[in-house]
Amino acid sequence: MKVFGITGWKNSGKTGLMERLVAHFTAKGLRVSTLKHTHHGVDLERPGTDTHRHREAGAQEVVLASSARVSILHELRDTDEPRLADLIARLAPCDLVLVEGFKSAPHPKIEAHRATTGEPLLAPHNQTVLAVASDCPLPDIDLPIFDLDDTASIAAFIENATDMASRSKTKLANDCFALPPGVIWTPVDEALSTLRKRLKPIAGTERIPVADASDRILAADHVAARSNPPGANAAVDGYAFAYEGLPAGDIVHMPLVKGRAAAGAPFSGNVPLGQAIRILTGALLPDGVDTVVMQEDVQIDGSRLSFPAGLKPGANARAAGEDMVAGQRALPAGHKMRAPDVALLSALGLSDTVVHTRLRVGVMSTGDELAEPGTTLDAARTYDANRPMLLSLAKRWGYTPVDLGHVADDRDTLRRALDDAAKTADVILTSGGASAGDEDHVSALLAEAGSLHHWRVAIKPGRPLALAQWNGTPVFGLPGNPVAALVTTLIFARPALSLLAGGNWLERQSFQLPAAFSKTKKAGRREYLRARLTEDGHVEVFKSEGSGRISSLSWATGLVELPDDALDITPGTLVRFLPYSGFDLA
Ligand code: AMP
Ligand code: MG
Repeated sequence: MKVFGITGWKNSGKTGLMERLVAHFTAKGLRVSTLKHTHHGVDLERPGTDTHRHREAGAQEVVLASSARVSILHELRDTDEPRLADLIARLAPCDLVLVEGFKSAPHPKIEAHRATTGEPLLAPHNQTVLAVASDCPLPDIDLPIFDLDDTASIAAFIENATDMASRSKTKLANDCFALPPGVIWTPVDEALSTLRKRLKPIAGTERIPVADASDRILAADHVAARSNPPGANAAVDGYAFAYEGLPAGDIVHMPLVKGRAAAGAPFSGNVPLGQAIRILTGALLPDGVDTVVMQEDVQIDGSRLSFPAGLKPGANARAAGEDMVAGQRALPAGHKMRAPDVALLSALGLSDTVVHTRLRVGVMSTGDELAEPGTTLDAARTYDANRPMLLSLAKRWGYTPVDLGHVADDRDTLRRALDDAAKTADVILTSGGASAGDEDHVSALLAEAGSLHHWRVAIKPGRPLALAQWNGTPVFGLPGNPVAALVTTLIFARPALSLLAGGNWLERQSFQLPAAFSKTKKAGRREYLRARLTEDGHVEVFKSEGSGRISSLSWATGLVELPDDALDITPGTLVRFLPYSGFDLA
């Protein structure tokens, strides 16, 4: 979440400016929340209302809820006024928090100013004020000055200052999609290593609560704020003592101290050497105590504990920081968060994460023959299968899918569609029209823009591929054929999108398994077959290799990858199986 503030004296026009900015940013599709500071002790509701009466009677938090909105009033009473950061942490995730007031908090701000207030500017004395929005000229000030009513310019300044403008505008090198020169058919591995070397994150960053961070990509290393466990504690229910004070003998007898240590309720007293205390799992070990005997192994007789000798020093105890120590790197930048990572960061005392904004993946279909599923009975029309497939993949992979619709085979229409797409998406996936034929307008247009790299990759299925940038936005021109579109998306676009999103390069996962089929494969290109596992753990392939067979994609549970070299496969030959789950498809 980006945070930006409006400050200024009373009657300086703060609230009007806030109002116009909220309207401006929400109209652009951003989710905006606001926070306003008001004067000491002001009551937030009318005396005599029902909820006011609840509060007066002593309630700590009062929630007033209707079908339209919810308000929470939290009485501070004798606790300290929360810091701005704590208040922001209570907000639901949004794109931008606009803060009114809080002039001493460290967030960046604009000062609103009106001549009529007669007050001197805060700006010269407040380093966090980055600009002034004023209704009168202001000489002698070394900051940008905006007209108080010029909302658009002020908004643009805020976008820049909060880096929102750069959400998708990190530029890739012009030649990022250039394949090695002089090679007619580039091997798959070389094409992949080109993508891996040249692509870099283009997604912006934002701060969100750890609890919301599952499937998001960390934009920074995350370091333990405290150790886990924070203090030495018991790993079992039992009795704790100092090992050093254990009496001799085959059966150990020890007096029990009065009291007990439980998780969250430590024992504050002293456990003398040679004595033991009742302890429960997770309880902090009392001072001096280092060893725990399990309750299943002891006998209790009044206040005397007995158990067989042979326990090791430190048995059944967890050392402070044995899992992770405060300051240690818990997760690196580029890591994609999963539920276990949410647990880890929470245990280490982090409430917020810095993550990449979700990559906006635009998906466009091209072709005069295409129609929306179910809209026509004309046999000359093909229902658009790629767009819903690619949009659902983008969503599944944690990106924001942007439906760019279906564009006819017309160069001007396509040009306009790409212009718009480059503004709304961080990366564009097109399908169809990517070869070099008469109706292949995607590649023709991209070539016109000068950034096309026609990818002649030695792969089947998967030709043609056109990689380019349109006004700086990367474009993956995928083949129209749905089988080829899926294979190239899984093999090339998936790891590439991950890098663009700020994540790691994703290797394809595979297993060597015995084939349940026969095939003679020629040398020279890599092949992907639609495949699935038989009940006895062999790999079978779809009955037809026809690339128009969409049913084969759905029949399969993965792909078989056949190497670039020639291969004679008979039942039992080991082949490489790439399960759909390894591509995060299922
Ligand atoms: P193209 O690459 O445009 O020559 O298309 C190759 C084949 O894929 C043609 O048979 C197209 O009709 C088909 N095709 C192209 N786009 C789609 C799509 N979005 N959904 C289903 N089939 C498509
Ligand atoms: Mg076409």
